[in-house]
Amino acid sequence: MSGNKVIGRVAVAGAGFSGAVIANSLANAGYSIDVFEERRHIGGNCFTYRDSETDVLVHKYGPHIFHTDREDVWEYINGFSRFRPYINRVKAVSRNRVYSLPVNLHTINQLYDTCLDPAGAKALIESESDRTITNPRTFEEQALRFVGPKLYRAFLYGYTRKQWGCEPSELPASILKRLPVRFNYDDNYFSHPFQGMPEDGYSPIFEALLDHPNISLHLGVALPDDHRSGYEHTFYSGALDAYFDYKCGDLGYRSLRFEEIRADGDFQGCAVINYCDYDVPYTRVTEHKHFAPWEEHERTVVFREYSFAATRSDIPFYPIRLAADRIKLKKYIELGKGTAGVTFVGRLGTYRYLDMDKTIYEALLVADKFVECRRAGTEMPAFVISPSGES
Ligand SMILES: Cc1cc2nc3c(=O)[nH]c(=O)nc-3n(C[C@H](O)[C@H](O)[C@H](O)COP(=O)(O)OP(=O)(O)OC[C@H]3O[C@@H](n4cnc5c(N)ncnc54)[C@H](O)[C@@H]3O)c2cc1C
Repeated sequence: MSGNKVIGRVAVAGAGFSGAVIANSLANAGYSIDVFEERRHIGGNCFTYRDSETDVLVHKYGPHIFHTDREDVWEYINGFSRFRPYINRVKAVSRNRVYSLPVNLHTINQLYDTCLDPAGAKALIESESDRTITNPRTFEEQALRFVGPKLYRAFLYGYTRKQWGCEPSELPASILKRLPVRFNYDDNYFSHPFQGMPEDGYSPIFEALLDHPNISLHLGVALPDDHRSGYEHTFYSGALDAYFDYKCGDLGYRSLRFEEIRADGDFQGCAVINYCDYDVPYTRVTEHKHFAPWEEHERTVVFREYSFAATRSDIPFYPIRLAADRIKLKKYIELGKGTAGVTFVGRLGTYRYLDMDKTIYEALLVADKFVECRRAGTEMPAFVISPSGES
């Protein structure tokens, strides 16, 4: 650390992983940082807190499981918290029956009431898949081609329709990139080698990242309008369309509403159950004490998750990125490039879905790029990572 020797003033909008990692890195490099966070807490969507009634650690904006294939990111984040091993094992309810997810050999045998081995299951799914669809253009066609109508109807149709708010036949095939089926009994939801949960939740990680003599944190304060004259550079992790006052139209987002349930003991026996039928209005139910299996709690707190189209007053959770959004995004990218002194970062600033590991990796890249540009006397780009590419 370079202590209090300050070499320049920088503003950061947002105290999620993007903002906090950039602030920490640049504070270590000797910059004085003002972090503005319009919410009254740090952590962005990864914020966790202890529920006052049950003492359960709650992930306020939906559960977050840390998983990565990047050892450097895993080592970095472990420098800010002790992580406990945690494997996400998700169940699915379809037509009033419980199945294993992601769709694996167990799920297939459950759904078809069979006792197939991997080769037998592969042959079955191949015989089910619709080979007449040679060039799938929609999510539905892609699913029918990959897995056939039975698996599609049971696990993909209703869930996708609820999650995206439209028919899967209206969504591009690219959303379902890979065959969503495993022909073994692996029910580990994520396939990354490094997975875990921070022992005391995510908020202490943000406290540690922002606890630096060169960082001043302003909670409940949006980025000031005059940031470009007050600071030598600004890193903005808020919504790209909001920065430009929506002048090219609103970028589409899905938002989430959480309905809370409190109960004694164990409510559902696991952390996450997805509800795949369209006539069940919620997408999943999460019981947060199961995300910290090393803790014991007599009472429990549970959330039903409902997905809906975000308006400007809702929290933008998932970027939709359909064709109309991409046209607007291009315009915002041009506006961003024409705005000297500001770099747009993170899931909102670059309008991409980003997991935490990728967010941290990119934030470290952005901070390094800034230091490099300052040393070389070159201009810091508006986008270090291109928002138009797929994440
Ligand atoms: C429901 C859900 C579940 C998820 N689960 C996982 C998971 O299991 N594992 C995983 O790896 N990732 C998960 N993610 C992704 C994870 O949330 C993101 O990777 C991460 O939050 C991105 O961090 P960020 O800093 O870019 O954005 P955010 O966390 O959204 O932070 C941006 C911050 O900027 C603030 N802000 C906006 N505008 C302004 C402004 N003008 N002035 C000041 N502040 C402003 C916002 O209030 C916010 O706090 C999940 C995401 C969602 C939506």
